[in-house]
Amino acid sequence: MLLGAVADDLTGATDLALMLAREGMRTIQVVGAPQDDLDIDEADAVVVALKSRTIPAAEAVELSLAATEWLIAGGAEQIVFKYCSTFDSTPKGNIGPVLDALQAKLGVPLAIACPAFPTNGRTVYQGHLFVGDMLLSDSPMKDHPLTPMTDANLMRVLGAQSKSTIGLVPFITVAEGAAAIRAAFDAARQRGCGVVIVDAVTDDQLRAIGEAAADMKLVTGGSGIALGLPGNFRRAGKLRTSAAAEFRVPPGRGVIFAGSCSAATRRQVAHAMDAGLPALRIDPLSIASGKLDVPAVVEWIVSRPEALPLVYSSADPQDVAAAQEALGRHAAGEIVETLLGSVAAALRERGFSRFIVAGGETSGAVVKALGVPVLRIGPEIDPGVPWTVSVDDCPVALALKSGNFGSDDFFLKAWSQLA
Ligand code: ADP
Repeated sequence: MLLGAVADDLTGATDLALMLAREGMRTIQVVGAPQDDLDIDEADAVVVALKSRTIPAAEAVELSLAATEWLIAGGAEQIVFKYCSTFDSTPKGNIGPVLDALQAKLGVPLAIACPAFPTNGRTVYQGHLFVGDMLLSDSPMKDHPLTPMTDANLMRVLGAQSKSTIGLVPFITVAEGAAAIRAAFDAARQRGCGVVIVDAVTDDQLRAIGEAAADMKLVTGGSGIALGLPGNFRRAGKLRTSAAAEFRVPPGRGVIFAGSCSAATRRQVAHAMDAGLPALRIDPLSIASGKLDVPAVVEWIVSRPEALPLVYSSADPQDVAAAQEALGRHAAGEIVETLLGSVAAALRERGFSRFIVAGGETSGAVVKALGVPVLRIGPEIDPGVPWTVSVDDCPVALALKSGNFGSDDFFLKAWSQLA
């Protein structure tokens, strides 16, 4: 292993694994805390997918440190801490506390933080994060059910979470290329900065940042921050070329779960319903009151053998707020995640083998319930979202989509790729 990564959610891990695979690294994705006996001999890069974005900060730190220790023991020369390209977090964390802990563990005086992912419209300029042409704080992320993002100034957001002094490597320096960026890192280190936010608005700039970070033991950001890292290993003669492993999709029925309330997922749900997919709306209040339970949802899905059924809890901000008021923010989310996880496990027992899931936390819950240990990355459906296949005795195909990713016809597009 050359590169080890710890991702704070499952779809983010898949996004990063796809990026590394596309850049020529043989990459595997481990789901949850890695087992000691896992065979990683064939991998150049290993991405550990945690579900640590919204758990208590101390637990996120503990899980991230353990995963990092395992990656280092497996030979990783560089560690990537991957979080969301919309910097999903709260004033309590978990990006800052995990970053601080990894830095201390690895003995790194300066780390970089760059969530930019230009292909999906996330850019960083003067330390401010944009989603398309909007500041993060004006984007639909301000209404996220678990991590509402109400400030686009990443120095301020990270400063509230981290013990480090936060600096900036601005666009004007980044545009000059790798040597200038490296000099800015040195200067920031000398000024006593512990972390620098790095501006980036294009993939070429991300590649230059990656090149400048060749000697940094810890790199943090969205998947884009890894664009330039495989090139460093290739230039150092450490990366072997190899044929891509064949991607085999198991036969069986499919289902779509949408547990994200993001604007993109709500459009995708509407598009799928317009296209005639049978759809069942589930909501936290019906589950909590016992009106809706796992057997009823399973029965609804199983009794539609000719179709690709869609089960969704995606709702607009008012409905989400009403559910959260009645049940509490976390409980409202958890009740949906738990139900979908149990439904997925029951469907697998009944021969379902193809799952399309919208939402990072939701995907984490589904994959955990399915007990999938390792994912192999397959063809890309939309930027940052590949098909994956579980590596276990009874493989399932999974398309795991971060809520805001994908075009409006994502669900049908994903399904048609398996035909
Ligand atoms: P995203 O990728 O858009 O962030 P996630 O799945 O990570 O999506 O997060 C969405 C969270 O919102 C999950 O915890 C999910 O269970 C919760 N959720 C889904 N539907 C509702 C709803 N109708 N009301 C309240 N919370 C919901």
